[in-house]
Amino acid sequence: MSDYPGYEETIFSKIISGEIPSTLLHQDDLVTAFRDINPAMPTHVLIVPNKWIPTIDHVETEDEPALGRMITVARKIARDEGIAEDGYRLIINCKEHGHQEVMHIHMHLLGGDRVGPMLIRKK
Ligand code: AMP
Repeated sequence: MSDYPGYEETIFSKIISGEIPSTLLHQDDLVTAFRDINPAMPTHVLIVPNKWIPTIDHVETEDEPALGRMITVARKIARDEGIAEDGYRLIINCKEHGHQEVMHIHMHLLGGDRVGPMLIRKK
C-alpha cells in the first residue's frame, strides 16, 4: 500500500497467513480473530480484516463486507466465550490520537468483567 507512506504491513498479516502462531478463534474468507497477546480483560480478542487496511481512515466502500463481518464474528465469539449475556465492549482505535499501535485495523472484543467508564474525561 505505497499510497500510505510510513505504513507497512504488520505482524497481523503473518498471523492471518499462519506464518507466526496465535491463539486463533475464527478464520473465514474475510476476517480472522485471535486472542490478544497482552490481555486487558478476562476475554480480550482481536478481530481483523484479512485484507491489510492500515486504519479506519483508509477504509473504502468495497471494505464494507469485511467490516460487517467483524461485527457478526464478534457477536459469535462473545457468545462462545460466555460473555454475551452480561455484555462487552468493542473498540477500534484509529491513528495516534486514537492510540492505535498496530497499523492493521483490528477490533478489540473486551469482556468477562465490567469494562468501566468509556474514557478518562479530558474536558
Ligand atoms: P492497538 O493499541 O489498538 O493498536 O492494539 C494493539 C493490540 O495488539 C494490543 O492490545 C497488543 O497487545 C496486541 N498485539 C500485538 N502483537 C500481538 C500478537 N503477536 N498477537 C496478539 N496480539 C498482539
